[in-house]
Amino acid sequence: MFNQTRKKLSSFYAICFFLFFVGFIIILYFALVQLMEHQQLEELETYYTEEQHDFFEHLDEQDKKIKYAPNRTYFYYVYTQDHKFVHGDETVKGFYQEIEKIFQSEDISQPLIKRTEWKNNHFLLLSKPIIGEQDSGYIILGKMVTSQHHFFQKMIWLFIILTCVFTILLGLVSYFMAGKAMIPIQQSFEKQKKFVSDASHELRTPLSIFYSSLDILEADEIDNLSSFGKELVSDLKEEAELMKDLLEKMLFLARHDQNRLEIKKESIFLSEMLENISGKFERTLPKTITFHSEIEKNVQLTGDSKSINELIYILLENASQYTQQGSIIMKLATTDTAIKVFIEDTGIGISKEDLPLIFDRFYRSDLARKRDGTGLGLSIAKAIVEEHGGTIQVQSELGKGTSFCIEFPFSKNKEAV
Ligand code: ATP
Ligand code: MG
Repeated sequence: MFNQTRKKLSSFYAICFFLFFVGFIIILYFALVQLMEHQQLEELETYYTEEQHDFFEHLDEQDKKIKYAPNRTYFYYVYTQDHKFVHGDETVKGFYQEIEKIFQSEDISQPLIKRTEWKNNHFLLLSKPIIGEQDSGYIILGKMVTSQHHFFQKMIWLFIILTCVFTILLGLVSYFMAGKAMIPIQQSFEKQKKFVSDASHELRTPLSIFYSSLDILEADEIDNLSSFGKELVSDLKEEAELMKDLLEKMLFLARHDQNRLEIKKESIFLSEMLENISGKFERTLPKTITFHSEIEKNVQLTGDSKSINELIYILLENASQYTQQGSIIMKLATTDTAIKVFIEDTGIGISKEDLPLIFDRFYRSDLARKRDGTGLGLSIAKAIVEEHGGTIQVQSELGKGTSFCIEFPFSKNKEAV
């Protein structure tokens, strides 16, 4: 239980840290990209101021040529409003064809920002209109941002790797810290378990003396007692019996908690056992309840027959206790991997709120309180199932009935009887 909590805590911390860091990285990445672009665009804006006079200077030239200037930090192309080339310097040969394709269908009367990839290079482009007295056009300025692009790509990979490494590290650190924090809780839990176990054990002897004294009193002095005295002795015996039963249950659960239960590993003829219980149980039922069983033949289980017997009785007694009128069905079936026992009733059912709590110790629903009981039956049933490596599940609907399903890992000797 503590180990599970420890694992849950450390995974929770690691997941929180991971999500926080991923969020942080996404924000940081986009902020840096924006910042870089903003800076590049500001630079292009200054070139725009420098180069826009080229439009008027070269507009009337006959021989309009693009100058190839590979060493420039930026390139620019000047066009008329109807997309006719006027003048320009380019840093990548032939790039103007790509540029024309991009801007041909755009509204160039407004400033435009574009990002594009061409021949494995990345470019940032800015188009701005040039308004003259008679003529107007536009200028496209651009920068190659391939190295920045690669830098950001590498950075994102670095962040991903760092996040994974730190998440694993944090998971390990929080596992270690959770272990340290668990120690005092674990110690006090162990003490509490030991106290329950010791108290139940210590109370057994005085209770036995009390019970046997009542027996002696009943046997030897019964004739000397008034009718009120006789009634009192009988009530005391009944209460002592209940207390003995409660102590036995508490002791059983305390031993289960401390892994001190001695569960035998014997071969149980489960089919025969359930047939036998069915016969006996049916006879105890009132006429208002019908009982039906579907038991697969020749099923064997390895375990403690006394405990398994008790487990089945706990569930059957609950079914009869919480069914005023209706039916109870017990089924035994096997699959390739499991032996399944179903105990179903059409009784009062369990509400959705109560359902997750019914296996808790001393828990009883409000409806159940009208009847006798300690609220330990299902805790014991669960402990027995766990001791046999199985699981117990419940489905229920208020007013309609309840179905318990016990599943044990499949015993390979099923066929052998
Ligand atoms: P005891 O310890 O004497 O068995 P109990 O029956 O109250 O007392 P559990 O057997 O542990 O205790 O059951 C816990 C609670 O689960 C019950 O009080 C009841 O509310 C609910 N419950 C269990 N089985 C059924 C059932 N078949 N139908 C309806 N409610 C059920
Ligand atoms: Mg019960």
